[in-house]
Amino acid sequence: MSLSIEEMASFCKRKGLVYNSAEIYGGMAGFFDYGPYGVELKKNILNEWWKYMVSSRQDIVGMDGAIISPEAVWKASGHAENFSDLMLVTEDKSYEVRADVFLEEQLKRSFDGVSAEEVNKLVEEHKLVAPNKKKFKKCESFNLMFPLKVGAAGTAAYLRGETTQMIYLNFSLIQNDARMKLPFGIAQTGKAFRNEISPRNFLFRCREFEQMEMQFFIKHGDNKKWFKFWQAERKAWYLSLGIKEKNLRYRAHNKDELAHYAKQAEDIEYNFPFGWKEIEGVHDRGNWDLSTHMKHSKQKLDYYDEETKERIIPNIIETSAGVDRNFLMFLYDAYDDDKERGNIVLHLHPKLAPIKVAILPLVKKVGLKEKAEEIFNSLKMNMVCFYDDSGSIGRRYARMDEIGTPYCITIDFESLTDNSVTIRNRDSREQKRVKIADLVSALDLS
Ligand code: ATP
Repeated sequence: MSLSIEEMASFCKRKGLVYNSAEIYGGMAGFFDYGPYGVELKKNILNEWWKYMVSSRQDIVGMDGAIISPEAVWKASGHAENFSDLMLVTEDKSYEVRADVFLEEQLKRSFDGVSAEEVNKLVEEHKLVAPNKKKFKKCESFNLMFPLKVGAAGTAAYLRGETTQMIYLNFSLIQNDARMKLPFGIAQTGKAFRNEISPRNFLFRCREFEQMEMQFFIKHGDNKKWFKFWQAERKAWYLSLGIKEKNLRYRAHNKDELAHYAKQAEDIEYNFPFGWKEIEGVHDRGNWDLSTHMKHSKQKLDYYDEETKERIIPNIIETSAGVDRNFLMFLYDAYDDDKERGNIVLHLHPKLAPIKVAILPLVKKVGLKEKAEEIFNSLKMNMVCFYDDSGSIGRRYARMDEIGTPYCITIDFESLTDNSVTIRNRDSREQKRVKIADLVSALDLS
């Protein structure tokens, strides 16, 4: 039986991966804190993405934009007006829920892109009521942006609802300063905020979350070619980090579901225990974003095409992934309740594992501790190490399996004379004897 989302949340809490934010004050739905091993895993996901999408490519550069921006940005992008979901609220306001999520749970099929009229009709037809048996009012639209006031003057602003707008605003500066020629991309990772109506499924739907987004600027007409290219690349990235292919699929948005600016959109979905769900979107946004910001800001965000000697507004293919949903997916894909071992094993790709190697003196005896510390100090600048000398060696191996540490190094009395240690492999449980001098090359983290 697969692990429920509640069991996953409790595993994450127990293992120092993720906590409910502000739990000692009762917490707040949709906000989470990452613990000591969670922060490492999350950083590794972000680093691997950055390496693949930015550092290893000559045609993509990065940036890091502000989280708060003036109202004008979000008016131009359409978010202030249109970034909303349909909500069902009971007449006495005792229960509220996102309409498509509620219908999916009740009627066991997808309602992506459903209209307000359809929701009202379905609620009536199926006599749907809230879990507390109260009746719903007519379905209403709820804006997901977090407005705020800046400074003593109380200037209207928003927390960003997606990271990508900052990329459009800086398009011309970056294109000029980094001397980029079409086709090229600008990438960014960082926090985004949405006042979700029904935050649920743990990290899957939060109100504060992190995105990894890349906007690829192209000439009009090249859209199909680059859409296909980025679809293949993004899937390849997940597979390269060990996600099982049978658990991934692409799903095209239907016409009703397409965002107002989008020409084509496909979601990469993962087979979670609560169904196939989006972890990333690949979108053809046409030239809508740059055009709208040009119109509203009255500044130039176009590009001089040296071939045709014309100024053009580039089209955009976007890849937009959520870090927290990725985190949850990598955990699910790696999770294995190994009955034979009697403990959980996270078969995380070594590049993602929070700790790469555990250093375990067999017993707490003089000599072994010093040797183990010597090894810790020699490896610590190369990889994240963990020192543990408490409990039986079996218990210590199990603790490392449970947070996905690929290697354990055991230091025994022989190590003091032969300068060798035992390396234990997390997945095969094989043990091999290695000279301390050869340790770095013996630990394969690729
Ligand atoms: P959904 O339909 O599930 O609300 P979306 O289509 O609105 O998602 P996008 O706007 O395309 O999502 O955002 C890109 C990515 O950001 C998503 O694929 C997802 O991984 C992540 N994301 C979006 N909303 C949330 C959220 N509330 N919590 C966690 N991650 C999110």
